[in-house]
Amino acid sequence: MEGSGAASGDPRKLGMILASTDAVAVDSLICHILGESPLELPVNVNACERGLGEANITKIKVLGDQVEPINDFKWPSVRIFPLDKIPLLKPVIDHEICTGCGRCIKNCPMKALTPGNEIPEFNYEECITCMCCSEMCLEKAIKLENSPV
Ligand code: SF4
Ligand code: SF4
Repeated sequence: MEGSGAASGDPRKLGMILASTDAVAVDSLICHILGESPLELPVNVNACERGLGEANITKIKVLGDQVEPINDFKWPSVRIFPLDKIPLLKPVIDHEICTGCGRCIKNCPMKALTPGNEIPEFNYEECITCMCCSEMCLEKAIKLENSPV
């Protein structure tokens, strides 16, 4: 899945199947294939440090077909690499796409969305940025945006 996954992304066919007894190595390899350094992701580094697997791509042995990194993978509109520099983010609705169906309102665990005037409105005081609303939106109308506050 590329773009703003999980629900709002687009399937991307890579034509490969990865399998390993080392889950950290698989995660790190796919990260490398998609054009990012696995060691930029704290979860990989932490897992490696705890002895759960290998995140250093130079130490991962790939059996079978050799795979090269791709250079045109579409990352989410808001990219968070490295993860220790997470900006403040908030969900926003594209008014051009939203149909006003209300699925996002019904599925917000924090009741942070109200009907508004045709288009739902966020109460950012209550929002926990879980993005369940985005996952439930069939129109892919809810995106993450950098927040100035
Ligand atoms: S689920 Fe999507 S289309 Fe429906 S009201 Fe919410 S933002 Fe609009
Ligand atoms: S991100 Fe989560 S808490 Fe915020 S409005 Fe969407 S569903 Fe509700």
